[in-house]
Amino acid sequence: MEELVALCKRRGFVFQSSEIYNGFAGFFDYGPLGVEIKKNIKDLWWRDVVRRRDDIVGLDSSIIGSPKIWEASGHVAGFSDPMVDCRESKLRYRADQVFWARVALAETGEVLGAVSVMESGTMEAEAQAAADKMKRKAAKQGALAPLDLKDLTQATAEDLSIIPSPATGNPGTLTAPRDFNLMFQTAVGATVDGSNAAYLRPETAQGIFTNFKNVQQTARAKIPFGIAQIGKAFRNEITPRNFIFRSREFEQMEVEYFISDDDDAWRGEHQAWLDFSWQWLLSIGLREELMGRDVHEAHKLAHYARACTDITFRFPFGQSELQGVAARGAYDLTQHQEASGKGMEYFDEATKRKYVPHVIEPSLGVDRLFLALLTSAYHEDEASSARHLNGACLHVGGEKRTLLRFHPAIAPIKVAVFPLVKNKPELMAKAEGLYKQLSMRYNCFWDVAGAIGRRYRRMDEAGTPFCITVDFDTLEDDTVTVRDRDSTEQVRMPMADVIPYLDKAVHGY
Ligand code: ATP
Repeated sequence: MEELVALCKRRGFVFQSSEIYNGFAGFFDYGPLGVEIKKNIKDLWWRDVVRRRDDIVGLDSSIIGSPKIWEASGHVAGFSDPMVDCRESKLRYRADQVFWARVALAETGEVLGAVSVMESGTMEAEAQAAADKMKRKAAKQGALAPLDLKDLTQATAEDLSIIPSPATGNPGTLTAPRDFNLMFQTAVGATVDGSNAAYLRPETAQGIFTNFKNVQQTARAKIPFGIAQIGKAFRNEITPRNFIFRSREFEQMEVEYFISDDDDAWRGEHQAWLDFSWQWLLSIGLREELMGRDVHEAHKLAHYARACTDITFRFPFGQSELQGVAARGAYDLTQHQEASGKGMEYFDEATKRKYVPHVIEPSLGVDRLFLALLTSAYHEDEASSARHLNGACLHVGGEKRTLLRFHPAIAPIKVAVFPLVKNKPELMAKAEGLYKQLSMRYNCFWDVAGAIGRRYRRMDEAGTPFCITVDFDTLEDDTVTVRDRDSTEQVRMPMADVIPYLDKAVHGY
């Protein structure tokens, strides 16, 4: 993860927000390369989910809406995480992300204290190391009882008196867990008495539900149909962490897919959305061996939900949710119908029946997908042993190479143009002509600085799939070399063939 974060900063993918003021936790800025990737992700999603499907239309609803939306949706009452405060350091933690265990001697049961660790793939080992240290410090003999790690929501007041704060290591400074609403509040208009409080949306979905009738009627949509939206969402996460995986401002790509209220209709539609989403993620370059599915157990579902399955991804810090696909019944539309007094029913012409539709909700985070794509694409070759991936030798010219093997459609720069030398005006003119022509279609990069090998290396690290060199032969026969990032192979082709060649690689046609 450190390598990815360092690469993101070094190459201008992602910066910490407000960096010159020592940062601002949970917020990020996307640099020149990052913004291109984000745009590519959103454009591809919109193309494949909205434009290429006849059953889905788009929407762009406001970030701030009536607070009544969030009362009806249940967010005001229930969109919260349990938090604990460290009274000493003033730091705040999510109670379900801090794990603790009593440390006791196996034989006598004597309790030496407790250890606490932040949730992670290595927390068991960390907790054991801390427990061993505690035993050494206490100068006790004999084996320790096995540690029983639980999160802080399962700690009593007595437990809390011995659990050390993750911030200071001192016991007894953590408060009991209490609910913390994750919505950001703001005030709309000039009144100052609090009556104008409103929220920044914590998900894009509710804007879709509140516009259900508007869209259904104006688009003359027939069930089943979906409404898609891409937009910012805000959550005052107690412990934003793992880089852009969990931030306080992020973007979502969501669909509400409205279906019949027949008892069993959701099963097939839910499965279809899982399959569609999985295939789409593969199509933009996620590595399938890093993907998984997490089917939520029935007793953990919200009372209205029929099912929820997450598509997970093996991020550098562990396997976690990338996209949720939920079958939410008629809950949201019914809530808004009751709260607003406006009918949310759909009239089925065929059966002459009116009903509140049920819904399937695929919900995907742009930033999480960005991190998953970066993780999938990151490769390093080792100087001592050339590694072969997909048959391609990545160890180039005896030098260590870091490369990002993005799918060409995701790559921030599609192609770089290099004039072989800069002191030959005809050669420079040819290269510039090609660069300008390609810039009409793609984000391109122009580089005249340094040896060609160095220029390749810089582009490998930015994930640029193709580099074109204009050399002396170009002046004779109008051909150029196109170098492939992954195989490092170079092919010579007429300049006229370059655009069809790139189009095929980027768009697939
Ligand atoms: P988590 O359990 O990780 O907090 P969630 O189940 O609350 O996520 P949803 O409400 O289902 O998440 O949101 C849908 C999607 O939005 C998630 O699958 C994820 O891709 C994205 N997302 C949610 N919260 C964040 C966040 N704080 N930062 C970045 N992306 C997020």
